[in-house]
Amino acid sequence: MPALPQYARVIIDRAIHRELDYAIPEGLRERIAIGSRLRVPFRDKSALGTVVQVLQETDAPGVRPIEAVVGDAPILSPALLELGQWISTYYCCPIEIVIRSLLPQVVRKGEVGWKKQLFVQPSANIPAEQLEALGRRAPRQAELLEAVMKLSAPVLATDLLRKTSLDNQTLRALQKRGLVELKEGAVARDPHANEEFMRTTSLTLNQEQVTALKGVEDALRDPESARPILLHGVTGSGKTEIYLQGIRLALNQGKTAIVLVPEISLTPQTVERFKGRFAEDPEQVAVLHSHLSEGERHDEWHKINSGRARIVIGARSAVFAPLKNLGLIVVDEEHETTYKQEEAPRYHARDVAVVRAKLEKCVVLLGSATPSLESYHNTTKGRYVLSELSQRVDENRMPLIRIVDLRLEARKDKSMIILSEKLRTAVGARLEKKEQTILFLNRRGFSTSLLCSNCGEARECPNCSVALTFHRDLNRLSCHLCGHTAAVPKKCPACGKDALIYSGFGTEKVEATVSAIFPQAVVRGMDADSMTRKEAYRDVLRSFRTGKIDILVGTQMIAKGLHFPNVTLVGIINADLALHMPDFRAGERTFQLLTQVSGRAGRGETSGEVFVQTFTPFSPSIQFARHHDFSGYFQQELEFREKCNFPPSNHAVLMTVRSSHPERAQFSAETLRRRLKENLGDEFVVGEPTPAPLKKLQGQYRFHILLRGQAIVRLSRKVRETLDKLPFPDDVLVTVDVDPYQLL
Ligand SMILES: [Zn+2]
Ligand SMILES: [Zn+2]
Repeated sequence: MPALPQYARVIIDRAIHRELDYAIPEGLRERIAIGSRLRVPFRDKSALGTVVQVLQETDAPGVRPIEAVVGDAPILSPALLELGQWISTYYCCPIEIVIRSLLPQVVRKGEVGWKKQLFVQPSANIPAEQLEALGRRAPRQAELLEAVMKLSAPVLATDLLRKTSLDNQTLRALQKRGLVELKEGAVARDPHANEEFMRTTSLTLNQEQVTALKGVEDALRDPESARPILLHGVTGSGKTEIYLQGIRLALNQGKTAIVLVPEISLTPQTVERFKGRFAEDPEQVAVLHSHLSEGERHDEWHKINSGRARIVIGARSAVFAPLKNLGLIVVDEEHETTYKQEEAPRYHARDVAVVRAKLEKCVVLLGSATPSLESYHNTTKGRYVLSELSQRVDENRMPLIRIVDLRLEARKDKSMIILSEKLRTAVGARLEKKEQTILFLNRRGFSTSLLCSNCGEARECPNCSVALTFHRDLNRLSCHLCGHTAAVPKKCPACGKDALIYSGFGTEKVEATVSAIFPQAVVRGMDADSMTRKEAYRDVLRSFRTGKIDILVGTQMIAKGLHFPNVTLVGIINADLALHMPDFRAGERTFQLLTQVSGRAGRGETSGEVFVQTFTPFSPSIQFARHHDFSGYFQQELEFREKCNFPPSNHAVLMTVRSSHPERAQFSAETLRRRLKENLGDEFVVGEPTPAPLKKLQGQYRFHILLRGQAIVRLSRKVRETLDKLPFPDDVLVTVDVDPYQLL
């Protein structure tokens, strides 16, 4: 037997950038292992921390003893801790911040426990004469006691009372007589307890699907040498069925599985598909997302950690689900940028999934109708295996995509920019046939700016360098970046003239315009403003599915994997919005958006039609999307990226220097750039410091430095070293974003 550890090396939850050693008191030695959570003395207070190493000796001076162990068992497996260390190095982020992402707060702090409820069981002996007497004097108590005596195991008191239609008073009376025992027990708060799941069985696969599943099966048989699989399947090609059957194969091997989906597609419909397929034991499916209550999150997490749950469906952070014996990780919609966390640690869940799979020797399956350039590039280099589904399962044809040239429409009549004549006619035809329409615009609000036609001033946010958006339902101006709102002025505050005009339009105005053109139609809008409540989102989707809404107008919320068989028309109000973003991925995002949104049309019996309104009808991303030509688009986009040294052929690191004093931000950025240039050498490209496209955000002035190079881990390390040696003034903040997706 190995000697029990004497010391523990601990990462404290607070950011102090180093590990500390503590002595383990005698009584705790058997309870402490890597991953244990502890309460330890730190300076003159106590703090929470995680054990990263156990030791027999230490040469650290002044070692103090551990105060207490939090929770019963280690809650971070060595494999997850190793993953955390990789994230810390790769994404240039202190390990204590990474651990905050690895463990939900409710688990880390150990303050919330299981919900306790009363369970009933019969007492050890109940004399027959007492039962008889009870029957005469208190028939209801006798009835309840009889029900209790039939139990083979304790049951929840509330369930028993509901079934017998008897009340709590009757139960308490029996307890007083000593005829039943009431005990507190832990019950799980199941976020989906009141939902019924229709049990489903495996569907018959077409030839392409059979081949795709075979690939997963082979990989599961030899996970150690398997490469990540990229499943490129057109919209409606039955990718989910491959995930479901792949998970079944992993379960049959006695293993577990994680399914990552973008937060926005984690709808009740999605959860139902998984719970329904594995309905032989609905509790084996756990769900992790941001709408869970703290109690629910605690229960789901422990259900996973204890091995009770074997399948986890969740958004980004579910990649850290503490499953043991992992067999398969599925990343659905792997191209989605919401997998990238925009605060530290700035990790990308898809890439973390690939690394976790490697560490735990499990299979990783990435799926998308529009794979990211990074993943597709990996298949051409042989790092990933490509698996393709080119047909829709219902054998429907791909929707017909028609391009509407807004330059011609604008010449006719300005109002046509919202709804061109062609799109108008198409919507009208759908209304007559009782078919449904989705109109899509990636911009919320009513008008995107309030301008003065006399002096040209726009109403800007006082904290951010963007125009305020007018929301008609609130009758206020609002900033979409910091949440600042302001009253709508009557006159221009700059020149005092009564010359204010609204310009630009968002979903609210599209909704109003469409309602005015088609007064007989039921039109509903759906965006982040109107959908702040979870139920509102569900209600609108339900009404739309049941045909109570004719036309749905929305932002990207409606672009994701929703299935509406009666939708035969999709209109993209302005395809140029994403294209003109100052971002090297603008073209990629446009292509993905058009393809994904088009995929919403024609999922039922009738094939669909898509209208794309644009001022740049000949831009490559629009033309390739129109012809459903992914590989053509990939070739030309890759060429462009290579020419400019952008990912995927190179890695990028974006550094942002910000301060409430513009000169100090700029000065610090210039100093930082000089130091980087010295430390990084010729191997890496160090860009000039430039004001960020969003030069002011929440009162802070921002400067960017973009670094590029091949050897990303070395680059990250050198960036860390440079920052550690460079003291910045207190009011200057520097952030590092490795493989950035947000360049504003
Ligand atoms: Zn003015
Ligand atoms: Zn603002």
